[in-house]
Amino acid sequence: MVVKRGVPLHARILFGLVAGAGAGGISNAILGASSPGLAWTASNITEPVGQFFLRLLLLLVVPLVFSSLVVGVAGMRDIRRLGRVGVKSLVYTLVMSTISVVIGFTLANTIRPGERIRPEISQQLQERYAVDAEKQVAAAPSTTADAPLMKVVKSIVPTNVFTAISKDPPDMLGLMFFALFFGVGLTLIGEARAKPVLGLLEGVFEAVAKCIELVMRLAPIAVFCLLFTMTSRFGFGLLSSLGWYSGAVLLGLSLHMFGVYSLSVAWLSRLNPLDFFRRIKTVMITAFSTSSSNATLPTALRVSEENLGVPRDINSFVLTIGATANQNGTALFEGVTILFLAQLAGVDLTMGQQLMVLYLAILGGIGTAGIPSGSIPFIILVLATIGVNPAMIAIVLGVDRILDMCRTVVNVVGDITAATYVARSEGADLKERPVPAAVDL
Ligand code: ASP
Repeated sequence: MVVKRGVPLHARILFGLVAGAGAGGISNAILGASSPGLAWTASNITEPVGQFFLRLLLLLVVPLVFSSLVVGVAGMRDIRRLGRVGVKSLVYTLVMSTISVVIGFTLANTIRPGERIRPEISQQLQERYAVDAEKQVAAAPSTTADAPLMKVVKSIVPTNVFTAISKDPPDMLGLMFFALFFGVGLTLIGEARAKPVLGLLEGVFEAVAKCIELVMRLAPIAVFCLLFTMTSRFGFGLLSSLGWYSGAVLLGLSLHMFGVYSLSVAWLSRLNPLDFFRRIKTVMITAFSTSSSNATLPTALRVSEENLGVPRDINSFVLTIGATANQNGTALFEGVTILFLAQLAGVDLTMGQQLMVLYLAILGGIGTAGIPSGSIPFIILVLATIGVNPAMIAIVLGVDRILDMCRTVVNVVGDITAATYVARSEGADLKERPVPAAVDL
């Protein structure tokens, strides 16, 4: 197909996505994942091209988050407004994450996917992904002897912001805390003194946004490559052998996305849900193809402002923090996966333990890095805590990428629903079509 100049970016990305998944899946089915030609193409062409795009986006995340948050906080000019926006975002995040984890738990406890997987499949998967699992378990953070409150303090407040950002992946919670604090300081020193610093950071923000626009031009080809690499290696067969588990995750994500978010958008943001989803489709496609909330942040910031009319200061605050700290899809996924693996391991969780996992999954949605497979280290940690062998993570690694693509969409859309809610409640004029009477409750 010849792509004409006038075809919008999201349509070209979608084309790359479908074509890449189709070409990879068909090659996998015809040639088999072990075909040397196919493996060579994936490792030497499509994977480097896809990673080039993804790494460019991630490269821009630290300057983007810092400049966007400081400019956003200082742009509010008033500490009280900042406080209100902060409290609303926090309450919204906690309520929505709890709903998402409860949906996941209900599905995992009714469908009981861990009791439906055939033992030989579970055995095969454990063997096939054993090496990857070992690497993941070795890299996962270990539990420290710190008291719970101390852990929270340490994970939010770094002692050196440069050490925080030089980690891989960067410590986003630490960076965000510093940016927020710095933004508050800047607001308090008065406009005249703050002006030069703000001017500089606004310039940084604009320049980074321009770089992102340039990177996004590569998106159609890069997304083709990312999808081709994935489906040529894994095919679609794995999804069916883990059908009950994947089905429970996907059903939960769909209920949250189209049920809970639609209600939130209609009731709290007073927007037409269909129109809302239509306006943010570029963001959804970008999240799906990159599997990274952080890499999608720039697109989300632009689309939320241009297509929905959310004011820039609210976007900078809610979306930037939300990319790391508001991950409903991740929280749901983590809850279902932990229950699934516990069921499979025959570990019967008491009500108290289930409540603990529920609480941890909600926290997981806040603390998980917004990068591909950011959930895995967290799940390993919780498995060890509840007495399930962490190496069992091997069972889900093969389907993680596709589930990651879906949960990242839910994560990012959740940030935008939060931003529209906060904007509406702060009296902003959102771009909209009127909400039809049926949902205008
Ligand atoms: N990939 C997800 C995100 O960036 C995080 C995860 O659940 O792995 O939002």
